[in-house]
Amino acid sequence: VAAELEGLKLLPAETTDGYRMPLWVNTGLVADVTRALQHGAEGIGLYRTEIPFMIRDFFPSEQEQLQSYRSQLEAFAPRPVTMRTLDIGGDKALPYFPIEEDNPFLGWRGIRVTLDHPEIFLVQVRAMLRASEGFNNLRIMLPMVTSVHEVEEALRQIDRALVELQDEGYDVQRPLVGVMVEVPAAVYQVRRFARLVDFVSVGSNDLTQYILAVDRNNPRVAGLYAAYHPAVLRALQYIARETRKEGKPVSICGEMAADPGGALLLMAMGYEVLSMNANNLPRVKSAIRGVSLARAQSLLNRVLRMDDAEEIHRYLRHTLKQLG
Ligand code: PEP
Ligand code: MG
Repeated sequence: VAAELEGLKLLPAETTDGYRMPLWVNTGLVADVTRALQHGAEGIGLYRTEIPFMIRDFFPSEQEQLQSYRSQLEAFAPRPVTMRTLDIGGDKALPYFPIEEDNPFLGWRGIRVTLDHPEIFLVQVRAMLRASEGFNNLRIMLPMVTSVHEVEEALRQIDRALVELQDEGYDVQRPLVGVMVEVPAAVYQVRRFARLVDFVSVGSNDLTQYILAVDRNNPRVAGLYAAYHPAVLRALQYIARETRKEGKPVSICGEMAADPGGALLLMAMGYEVLSMNANNLPRVKSAIRGVSLARAQSLLNRVLRMDDAEEIHRYLRHTLKQLG
């Protein structure tokens, strides 16, 4: 098996009719980077910056953050590294920054917290920019955006950090900046967002929970949390189409990309990068290498005519088995 994996690492994720699908990884810990490189990942599509915040007793300083970020950027250079700005609240808690709410998933989370605390945001962005000095492979990604105003404000803050650092003599370059589409409000404004930023990336874990109104971590309704719900698939298709109309790249960094069936559907929809947990990369690559783009497109058309998530799931499993 090890030799097989080693062989697969060197092969591109290319369909039988020659379509190349870039496979990136999601990271948090330093160990994730090692595994990503072992599997031949071409970039980092989501670095969850909460991790260095969670393993400390207080907000890490600019210098501490700089060190964490640099290890990711350096290990992956010259390949792109997408760093998400602090995404706390909801299911992601910091012990030293308690947020008590009745409805945390509809509350103060992600970009809402950091825009209310520009001092936290600016320190983080400064650390990211400084960490990228000499590598220039940094992409910054904004979580949980719901309005154009939030995107504009975040872009202003990033600009401010950039100008500050340049004035201080750092040789930092403007990074690519993107938004995550994780809530229905972002789906319906995705073209407006795409105009403002350099890339769009779908967080399908949260998007699924918000489209279906199903808590992603509540075991009682786990059976209703369906990545292949027709409403979710239609939203994903719409996001890809709208973003591409603006000529901006669209990617996905939720768990759906890590499922071989999901990966084929996303490829057919026009997603240009699939980012996943490194452990799942080999099986997704195998699935892509086993089909033509045309076959994936007919698979997509077929499932888009189905009304039931379980039926779609069954059909995907059956098709993958047929493909070997
Ligand atoms: C998502 O919501 O799909 C996502 C990638 O972010 P997280 O799982 O960290 O919320
Ligand atoms: Mg999310």
